[in-house]
Amino acid sequence: MTHELEVLLELNRHDATIRDQALKIEGLRRRRASLVEAIAREHAEFSTKKREFEELQRHSREKSREVDDLDAQIRADQEKLRTGLLSYKEMDALRVRVEHSRARMDQLEDEAIALINKVEEQAPLIRKVEEDFLKWKAKIDQEIAQIDQEIAAHTREVEQLQQERAQRAAAVDPKLLRHYEELRGRYEDPIAFVRHGVCSGCNLRVSEITVERVRQEIVTCENCSRLLYVK
Ligand SMILES: [Zn+2]
Repeated sequence: MTHELEVLLELNRHDATIRDQALKIEGLRRRRASLVEAIAREHAEFSTKKREFEELQRHSREKSREVDDLDAQIRADQEKLRTGLLSYKEMDALRVRVEHSRARMDQLEDEAIALINKVEEQAPLIRKVEEDFLKWKAKIDQEIAQIDQEIAAHTREVEQLQQERAQRAAAVDPKLLRHYEELRGRYEDPIAFVRHGVCSGCNLRVSEITVERVRQEIVTCENCSRLLYVK
């Protein structure tokens, strides 16, 4: 193998390391995105439950206020009946109203109590849901922070490797480097070896002449243009 090709093979190994690092970063970013998505999903679910519960609380308070208002009205009517200077006709009408109000009161009170019971029943469940969500989220946030640290470390590593790459690339013959860079755009493995007359990149047979020449100089595969060497 020529010295030039040896230098290029080293660059190729270096590029493979950079690619591995880049793939790791990519994988970490995907994992991070899925975690962020999961938090948003769980948060939306929890918020819906909480909103429903708050709606129930509001409904319960309104119902209790209705009970209080009606109670106040009944008392006022009774007071009027007791002390008011009213005509018989007015007294009768007021008595009828109090009767109606009492009947309505029985129903309202039942509804108000049912709602209060429901709120009391659901309150601990909602607290539990919130507690669980926050506990889970804290864990996921921690995992995301860990991933961010890993991404930062790999990014620093890639930056370092890229600086080193510039030096390695400068040591390669420019024409050969151009060819290599061109191949790198097409193949993950721009350099292939020949074994039993077959190119390891495209798995096709190369000519006898190529097999002969590959020992002394830099040649390319007739089929895939990869740079060739013999082990
Ligand atoms: Zn080939």
